[in-house]
Amino acid sequence: MIIIIKRGLKPENIQDVLNKIKELGASPHIVEGREQMTVSVLGKTEKISLNSFEVFPEIESVLRISKPFKLASLAAKPQGSEFNIKGVLFGPTHFNVMAGPCSVESENQTMRIAKAVKKAGATVLRGGAFKPRSSPYAFQGMGLDGLKILQMASKETGLPIVSEAMDYDGLKMMVDYVDIIQIGARNMQNFALLKELGKIDKPILLKRGMSATVEEWLMSAEYILAGGNSKVLLCERGIRSFDTQYSRNTLDLNVVPILKSLTHLPVVVDPSHGTGHRYLVAPMALAGMAAGADSLIVEVHDKPEEALSDGPQALLPSDFESLMEKIVGMGKIMGRNVQTSIPQKKVS
Ligand code: PEP
Ligand code: MN
Repeated sequence: MIIIIKRGLKPENIQDVLNKIKELGASPHIVEGREQMTVSVLGKTEKISLNSFEVFPEIESVLRISKPFKLASLAAKPQGSEFNIKGVLFGPTHFNVMAGPCSVESENQTMRIAKAVKKAGATVLRGGAFKPRSSPYAFQGMGLDGLKILQMASKETGLPIVSEAMDYDGLKMMVDYVDIIQIGARNMQNFALLKELGKIDKPILLKRGMSATVEEWLMSAEYILAGGNSKVLLCERGIRSFDTQYSRNTLDLNVVPILKSLTHLPVVVDPSHGTGHRYLVAPMALAGMAAGADSLIVEVHDKPEEALSDGPQALLPSDFESLMEKIVGMGKIMGRNVQTSIPQKKVS
């Protein structure tokens, strides 16, 4: 069960509601989001009648949610969540594409690719400064220098930035440099990190763990929401299956409509890590859009043979441009508003 509190009230104003919950044998968990305050009612709530709360003027609505992910569940927000990230809209009304290199490798490389993806219509620049690599001997990312380069590229192009935080120290360092914090597949169940993400005021792109079930993934999102951060984007990036001969992972597109039936959180598809091969990226990007995703995240590199990570799955800028044209065309067929530029703020 969740209780949505009227706007503008503070926890001290809802003491009577909290007492009532305890009196009914359940325990309240307050989630103070930036837009609204919600109380999750935990424990044996089956026998509690929704009418028990009718008398409280502080309450906006009471919902019975049988799923273990209460705040992430669709019932908590049937209209779907929409986040405006520096003018880029994530959610049911718009479709947008994030693109850029797997890793920030140099100022020159990032600037070139940032300009190319912007020209093609991407609305967010991706680029890793901290890289989770399978080998300790592989390129680990440029760290803080990489973040500074991303910031420069953002200033130059106007594109907001998405970049991965691998741990708490990296997270603290990144908050001032990036607009969306990516949590990689390998960290989806790093609960200590998820708790920290709940405390910050930045949207989180939560990638699906490579063997995570839908419920495990949504419970990870729940950690962030329960901590008070309501901005979570769920990103399908392929799961491990038995055949890795022809594709790096198996892009699970079933999960897109499944998520849409379960949660209000926007859904992103990553056809780059989902496939691992350049020639598979565009078909699976379009398939992800057709399945109902709200956004894509795509790796692009203008010299993939020199890339320090994930070169084989990077689209060339020209491939990306033609993919964007197809996405815009498909948006028309699907009745989705494809966002390809960011509205300029009015200078007063
Ligand atoms: C990435 O986006 O470059 C990345 C490492 O992603 P994932 O966590 O999905 O492997
Ligand atoms: Mn990558």
